[in-house]
Amino acid sequence: MFKRSLLAIALVSSTLFSIQNVQAQSTEKVLNIYSARHYSTDETLYSTFTKTTGIKINRVDSDDSGILNRLKAEGAASPADLILLVDAARLASADAQGLFQPFKSKLLDDSIPANWRSAPTADGVTWTGFSTRARVVVYDKVKVKKEDVDTYEELADAKNKGKVCTRSGSHPYNMSLFSSVMEHLGEAKTEVFLKGMVDNMARAPKGGDTDQIKAVASGECGIAVSNTYYIARLMRSTNPEDKAIMEKVGVVFPNQASWGTHMNIAGGAVAKYAKNRDNAVLFMEYLASPFAQDHFANGNNEWPTVKGVKIDNAALKAMSGGDFKSETVPLATASKNLVKVQQMLDRVGYK
Ligand code: FE
Repeated sequence: MFKRSLLAIALVSSTLFSIQNVQAQSTEKVLNIYSARHYSTDETLYSTFTKTTGIKINRVDSDDSGILNRLKAEGAASPADLILLVDAARLASADAQGLFQPFKSKLLDDSIPANWRSAPTADGVTWTGFSTRARVVVYDKVKVKKEDVDTYEELADAKNKGKVCTRSGSHPYNMSLFSSVMEHLGEAKTEVFLKGMVDNMARAPKGGDTDQIKAVASGECGIAVSNTYYIARLMRSTNPEDKAIMEKVGVVFPNQASWGTHMNIAGGAVAKYAKNRDNAVLFMEYLASPFAQDHFANGNNEWPTVKGVKIDNAALKAMSGGDFKSETVPLATASKNLVKVQQMLDRVGYK
């Protein structure tokens, strides 16, 4: 298995990821990563990079907000080179707080579609996505009809009164979704939409996405919103309770007939005070190789961002029916709406 991985790397290196390049570029053989990812499959990713390049990786694992707080507290003394976060709203707000520095990579520009990274300036970009997840609707197959929940707009429709459950409105996953809804509906209609969602709540927002799915299965909620990898995790679980949950709920990829299902990313950025910035960029280029894309995305039941890289994930395939229409508004464009969305959430009482 491992030999095969190395072979894959060797093959990839000839096209996307040049080992000679690595040795020429890396003056310091260390890379300090602050990561909000905690998937066991990522270990292979790190160890293969070190084996291939000789660059030692030191890693600090925390959640997104923990990492951002730490970066702010450490300031210019921060040892962080590369930051891995799991949401576009967080990447954009960390960027707005000046915690990143721009970088340039032709390889990343060429291999990852522009809608998955920050808006480019003369100095390059500040963050880029390496995997995508869809934000979809989960519903009670007995009590709710699929056609009543196959658009985001219907979450706010009076026909769904008393049925909707979500995690906190200001959680970054929802902030990213609502920011993109605002790109399509405009400001005024988005506030009406958010007010409608609040009016339709079965209970006050609480818990994470998995808790909403469980609440649909238990009958407390009829409709919920979740990222796809939480659903895939339950689908792949061997636990009988999880299997029972998935038998009760349906999944719909919203807005297939209009603007497409909202997608979010897990991505990377170079820390403002990185001392090993070349190694950080090199690691991101490595993440764009098919070998790394498979581990990075598939390890958390996500889709790769790199053009042409396909994964074979039965749960994702079963959930989406193979192919679906995803939204094309760049995440960087939508993230400009974050402040306005938070103000609207406060006004309509979406906690
Ligand atoms: Fe998550």
